[in-house]
Amino acid sequence: MYEHDVIVVGGGGAGLRAAIAAQEQGADVAIVTKLHPVRSHTGAAEGGINAALRDGDSWEDHAYDTMKGSDYLGDAPAIDTFAKTAPDEVIQLEHWGMPFSREDDGRVSQRPFGGLSFPRTTYAGAETGHHMLHTLYEQVVKRGIEVYDEWYVSNLAVTDEDDPNDRECHGVVAWDVQSGEIAGFEARDGVILATGGLGQAYDHTTNAVANTGDGVAMAYRAGVPIEDMEMIQFHPTTLPSTGVLISEGVRGEGGILYNAEGERFMFEYGYATNDGELASRDVVSRAELTEINEGRGIDDEYVYLDMRHLGEERITDRLENILHLAEDFEGVDGLEEPMPVKPGQHYAMGGVETNEFGETCVDGLYAAGECACVSLHGANRLGGNALPELIVFGALAGRHAAGEDMGEALIETGPSEELDREELGVPVGLPSEQSDTAEPAADGGEPVEDVDTRSSEEVVSDAEATEEERIETLLEREDGVNHADVRADLQTSMTENVNVFRTEAGLEQALEDIQEARERYQDVYVADKSRTFNTDLQHTIETRNLLDVAEAITMGALARDEFRGAHWRKEHQERKDDEWLKHTMVSWNDGDPELWYRPVILEGHEETYEPKNRSY
Ligand SMILES: Cc1cc2nc3c(=O)[nH]c(=O)nc-3n(C[C@H](O)[C@H](O)[C@H](O)COP(=O)(O)OP(=O)(O)OC[C@H]3O[C@@H](n4cnc5c(N)ncnc54)[C@H](O)[C@@H]3O)c2cc1C
Repeated sequence: MYEHDVIVVGGGGAGLRAAIAAQEQGADVAIVTKLHPVRSHTGAAEGGINAALRDGDSWEDHAYDTMKGSDYLGDAPAIDTFAKTAPDEVIQLEHWGMPFSREDDGRVSQRPFGGLSFPRTTYAGAETGHHMLHTLYEQVVKRGIEVYDEWYVSNLAVTDEDDPNDRECHGVVAWDVQSGEIAGFEARDGVILATGGLGQAYDHTTNAVANTGDGVAMAYRAGVPIEDMEMIQFHPTTLPSTGVLISEGVRGEGGILYNAEGERFMFEYGYATNDGELASRDVVSRAELTEINEGRGIDDEYVYLDMRHLGEERITDRLENILHLAEDFEGVDGLEEPMPVKPGQHYAMGGVETNEFGETCVDGLYAAGECACVSLHGANRLGGNALPELIVFGALAGRHAAGEDMGEALIETGPSEELDREELGVPVGLPSEQSDTAEPAADGGEPVEDVDTRSSEEVVSDAEATEEERIETLLEREDGVNHADVRADLQTSMTENVNVFRTEAGLEQALEDIQEARERYQDVYVADKSRTFNTDLQHTIETRNLLDVAEAITMGALARDEFRGAHWRKEHQERKDDEWLKHTMVSWNDGDPELWYRPVILEGHEETYEPKNRSY
C-alpha cells in the first residue's frame, strides 16, 4: 500500500494545480494518473483562458457574463469566487513562465470570445492548453511531487455508512497499467478527483478516448450526488469526419460562418443579430443545425467556417495550429478554403457536486476541473471559462485538502431530507454483480450499524481486495460480450437522442437503450488476458463508467421539461424560472438512481443576480 497526505487522481490542469497548491501547504502529495500528465486532455485546449486583467474590464463583468452564459443555472458564490480569483491565477501562470501571446507593447494579448462583454481571453497561440499543462507540470517536477503515471484508478476507498454525508474517503485503488499490479493508495488528508470529461459517452466528440467520466462515476457510486448532468455542451465548430475541434479563437479573431447559399446565417436569419458568430456556443450550435435541417447545409451535414480574410500573417501568428488540424484531418487548406464544421459534444457542465472549496459530501473526497460541478457553468459554459476553472478551483481544492481553513462554504453539498425529491420510475437497476463490486458497502468490511469502525488502512485494503476480485472475475470469463460493442451502441444512441435537439421520445429511447446496454454489459468479457498494458480491461471498466454517466445525463434531460442554455426540449420551448431555477441532482441510491433538486443560488458576494432574457 502507498501512503500520502493528499492523493490527486488525474494529471490534467485541475489535478496539477491542485497538487501544487497542496504541496505549498506542506502536504506530501501524489498524483495518480492513467495518462502521463502532459498527455492529459487539457493539452488539447486551443483558444484561451478568461480573466479580467485590463483597465476597462472587471471581475464583476466577468461574473455577470458567466451567470448570463449559464442561463441563470450557475451558483453565484461559485461564479463570484471564480471571476475574482481568475486574474491572480493567470498572473501566477505567467510568473511560472507560461508563454502567453503578447501585444507589441509587451502586454499579454486578449481576444474576444463568445458571450463575453469584453475581449478577456488570454491565449498562447492556438495551443493554450498545451502550454498551460507544460507550465504546471514543470512546477510539479520542480517541487518533487510524486507522479504515479499510467496508473488507472478503478475505485475509491470509502466507508459504508448509510448516509453519504457520514462517509469518509480514505484513499483509492489503482492498477499499474504497465505491470498489472493492483495497489491501495491511502490518503491521510484527502483525495482530489480531477479526472476530466466524459465525452466518450458520445460518438462525435472533441474529447479524447481517455475522457470516460471515471471520476464522476466513482464518486457517484460512492454516494456523492452528481449535478446538472443533462447540461452537455455541443461546440459549434468541430470537423465533421473526426470531431476534432476548431477553436472558438477563429471566430474570436473574426472568422465567419456561412451556409450553402453563401449567407452569413447568424445575422441573415436573426439567430444573434448583435454578436453573430460570437454568440454563446449553445446559440451558434442550434443555428448551425437549424440551417442544416432546413436544407441550407453543405452535403446535408455541415456549414463553413471561413478565416481566409484574416490574412496569412495573422493566421500563422495566432491560429497556426488550426491550419494543421484542418489540413491533417479534413484535407483543407484554411488559407485558401473555408473549413467544414458542425456541432459536436465538447464539455460536461455538470459533474460531481462540490462546494467552492472542492469538497463533496463525503469527508476527505474532493473534486475539481471538468469532472466537478461547483456550479460555475450552469446550463452553458462560456468559451475560455474552463481553463481558469481548473486553476481557480484546483488550487482551492488542493489547499483545503491539505488542511487550510477556508471558513464556511456558501454552497451546500450532499443529500438532504428536506429537499425536493422525485422518483422517475425508470428501470435503472444495475446487474447485481457489478453493483456489488462497485459499492462502497461491499468493500469487504462488516457493516456495523451505521458507523464504519474500520481503520483507514483497513478501508483501503478492503477496497483493494474487492478490486482484485472484480478484475479476476472479468479476466476469468472465457467468452461473452465485447465492451466495444456495448460502448458503440451507447454512443450511437446518445448522439442520436441526447444531442443539441432533444425530444421526449428520443430521451425515452435513450434510457431504454442504456438499460439494454447495461444488461448486455453483465456478460462482458475481456479477450486479452495479459497483465501488461491491458487496454481491453481498462476500456471494459471505462465502459461501465460511461453507462452510469450516460444514464444520469439522460435522466436529468428527461426530467428537465424546459429550454435552458444548452438544454433544448422540443416540447418545452420556454425557460421556466418559476419551476426550474434548480439543479438536477442524481444520487446512486444502491444502483437505483434517485433524482432530486437543489435551488440555484443567485445571491453572490456583492449582489444578487436577476434572471433576464438571454440574447446576443
Ligand atoms: C479540444 C478541446 C479544446 C478546448 N479548448 C478550451 C479553451 O481554449 N479554453 C477553455 O477554457 N477550455 C477549453 N476546453 C475545455 C478544457 O480544456 C477542459 O475542460 C479541461 O482541460 C479539463 O481539464 P481537467 O484537468 O479537468 O481534465 P483533463 O485535462 O482531461 O485531465 C484528466 C486527468 O485525469 C486522468 N484520469 C482520468 N481518469 C482516470 C482514472 N480512472 N485513473 C487515473 N487517472 C485518470 C487523466 O489521465 C488525466 O490526467 C477545451 C476542451 C477540448 C476537448
